Amino acid sequence: MQNQSNAPFPFMQLPPELRDMVYENLLEDPHYPPPRPCPKTRGPSWLSSMAQLGSGSSTDTETTSHKSNFLFLASKQIYAEYMDLMCKKTTFHMTVAPHNYTPPAAPAEEEEDIWQISPQVLKKMKRCDIKLVTTSTMLGVSDPRNMKPEEWALARQMRRQLSEVENISELNLHVKAIGDPLWNPLWVWYHATEALREMGSSSDHGNEYVKVDVVDGELGSVASSGSGPSGPSGPQFNRITFSLDMWSPGENYLMRDRTNNNQWAWWCLKGHCVGQVGPELTVRQFCSWLYDCPTCYSEENDDDK
Ligand SMILES: [Zn+2]
Repeated sequence: MQNQSNAPFPFMQLPPELRDMVYENLLEDPHYPPPRPCPKTRGPSWLSSMAQLGSGSSTDTETTSHKSNFLFLASKQIYAEYMDLMCKKTTFHMTVAPHNYTPPAAPAEEEEDIWQISPQVLKKMKRCDIKLVTTSTMLGVSDPRNMKPEEWALARQMRRQLSEVENISELNLHVKAIGDPLWNPLWVWYHATEALREMGSSSDHGNEYVKVDVVDGELGSVASSGSGPSGPSGPQFNRITFSLDMWSPGENYLMRDRTNNNQWAWWCLKGHCVGQVGPELTVRQFCSWLYDCPTCYSEENDDDK
């Protein structure tokens, strides 16, 4: 009986399907960067105390208390098997925020990756939510009114890293604007949308700075045929949502319309289609669609009668 408690369980001798069942019990959505530790940790307390010991501080260093992290230390094979399953079954949460991003001061700094995530994982992941928490300072210009989407270094960096993504079935973007006394948060939402919404489609001119001519009425077939002058680069976003760092009435969002060749459309929070978006989206149109819904408006007026 003594032997039984000391001998390690021969986990690797289990068939792969059974190992996968064990991993599935430990699966958690991965976060990049990992969430900061909070007083109520979800994982074993020894893990978070070790992490805190290692960093010397629990406040400004990002550590994680995820319970499945110890698996990564077990063996290369376990690591590979677990990562494989994680890419298939979980939603990756990738954040860019002032705490993990500084605008590049020199062109060479623009080559630095935003997220510490391996290209192999990016290639395999199936679902990903990207959260862009940004101030108008992060736009990197003194006056956002005259900014062009392709001038935004952060968007170029995101595109470069996301160009590794190959097998994604759902990719969403959430843009959270941090209020500032100088500029309306609208500029942050608008520029993020314009810099990223055409990523991966042939009408995209964010990567190569070449304006692609889109023939009137041909956009649907051009976009789905999938090759512009230099070909689309990177995955496509399915949905772009917006929020503020303070109370707001709830912003409408952009999502591809399956009934209209996957073109972008505006939707209200109740799911009504508010309007289709063409190749050009001016800031004026953006403004008027952000809160308006004719269907909700007429429903409310009917109720008043
Ligand atoms: Zn509505």
